[in-house]
Amino acid sequence: MANTWLTGALAEPRPENLLYLGRPDVVRCLEGIDVVATVRDALIRHHAGETVLPSEAYLSWHNSRGAYTRSIGMPGAVAGSYGMKIINASVSNPALGMERAGGLGLCFDRETARVVAVMEVGLLSAVRTASVTAVALEATGYGDPASLAVVGCGTQARVHLALLLSRHGGIRSVALHDTRTASAEALAADSAARYPGVGFTVAGTAAEAMNGAEVVLFLTTVSEGYVEPEWVTPGSVLVHVSLADLTDDALLGAAALYVDDIALIAENPRRPLGRLINEGRIATTPSAGRPAITATLGELLTTGSVPARPDDGYVIVNPFGLGVLDVALFHAVHRRAAETGAGQRLPVF
Ligand code: NAD
Repeated sequence: MANTWLTGALAEPRPENLLYLGRPDVVRCLEGIDVVATVRDALIRHHAGETVLPSEAYLSWHNSRGAYTRSIGMPGAVAGSYGMKIINASVSNPALGMERAGGLGLCFDRETARVVAVMEVGLLSAVRTASVTAVALEATGYGDPASLAVVGCGTQARVHLALLLSRHGGIRSVALHDTRTASAEALAADSAARYPGVGFTVAGTAAEAMNGAEVVLFLTTVSEGYVEPEWVTPGSVLVHVSLADLTDDALLGAAALYVDDIALIAENPRRPLGRLINEGRIATTPSAGRPAITATLGELLTTGSVPARPDDGYVIVNPFGLGVLDVALFHAVHRRAAETGAGQRLPVF
């Protein structure tokens, strides 16, 4: 039976369209945006209470290959800009020649709440996350590193290296480790061609990569902690982007622990730091005699004081990932697209 009952049921609406930006459009727009400044500003606004960050919606399943597969919905508002990130991923995607994570970034119109722009988000997500790392290194006293270790050499690692090597001319050595050695070797070869003044080595284990490195980036897909405190070089900073690499002992043993948002971490006990907070083993504010979160990145940036590096101990940065930072970037990209005419208008009605 034909569905003719809908014909004429609604009045003819006013024409509407939205802007679609695929990855090449996003790349072109990003060339005209200071992404680190955008993310830094959004972190400061978050600390000042000028953001709205609802809980994430999280849906996970196992696909026909038995691989962990998930969808995360992250709405947010920052300084009057509203939007949402939908970031989906399956750990079996790389075996199919696909990036593990992908999805869409949406910009909402403030007055009508309509979705006015939709953009490819896999790259933007990595750019946002690498920008948080860049801001965190500067805010915690590691703004001029000479040596770097990268554990996990996928999309995040590639974007992190590109951003950090473009900002920190003092980096002389980068040790790369991945359980898929070919990924570390490919990243080392590509990076050596782009940055001839930097020495890239491939390490057989995470402990070997971390040995002597001032800054260690964890960018893996593990779900069980494996990094022991004994592996950590005194005075170094561990940026725990992948959130599950550090054992409880490594998390509990930090001299200082910085996060992006305490509430978001505490409401996600499936991640180790959230679990330790819920178990009462890590306090959410500095507290005598108990490991504690030292400060949020927004707090550090707002006070403007850069903490001294520990001589013997080590520092952890545990950035959960704030949707409001993505929303800030989506709107920066949308504004840039409006200025340059990038993207494609898709009719809605
Ligand atoms: P990816 O799949 O492209 O790369 C992950 C790499 O890690 C792969 O090359 C894999 O072989 C390697 N790996 C897996 N287990 C390893 C181990 N034990 N030791 C060494 N290498 C290992 O993933 P991606 O897109 O680069 O994302 C990396 C991680 O960053 C993911 O866990 C993702 O959830 C996380 N992430 C965090 C945030 C945040 O804000 N905290 C934001 C985005 C992504």
